[in-house]
Amino acid sequence: MSDMHEGGCLCGAVRWRAAGAPQNVNHCHCEMCRRGSGAAVVTWAAFAAKDFTFTRGAPVWRQSSAVARRSFCGACGSALNWQSLKHEDSIDVTVGTADRPEGLAPREHLWTEGAVSWLHIQDNLPRHRTRRGT
Ligand SMILES: [Zn+2]
Ligand SMILES: [Zn+2]
Repeated sequence: MSDMHEGGCLCGAVRWRAAGAPQNVNHCHCEMCRRGSGAAVVTWAAFAAKDFTFTRGAPVWRQSSAVARRSFCGACGSALNWQSLKHEDSIDVTVGTADRPEGLAPREHLWTEGAVSWLHIQDNLPRHRTRRGT
């Protein structure tokens, strides 16, 4: 099933599943994603919250800004989710934790104003200096 995506953290304590096509897939270059993941860029897939479930364990959630919260595995620290506090009908999951990340190809770059200068991603995807639509 091409529209069934599964994944999990590095240690396997938390497993997730998303049914249906992602609402969006993007590379985020913002400072909060960089610090939260420890990586130069984070690729996110957004799904309808009703289509997303944890099939093993549960992550630890932490409010990371005035408008959002993030989750990570409490055992191994893998960054797992981002969710807007205003739009809890949608949830983002890190594509890096997907079993088949090839099936979640990014569609755009967000927050490129925060991108590190030595990172050169050679694609023709739309690039937004901040959030989508700007
Ligand atoms: Zn883990
Ligand atoms: Zn970000």
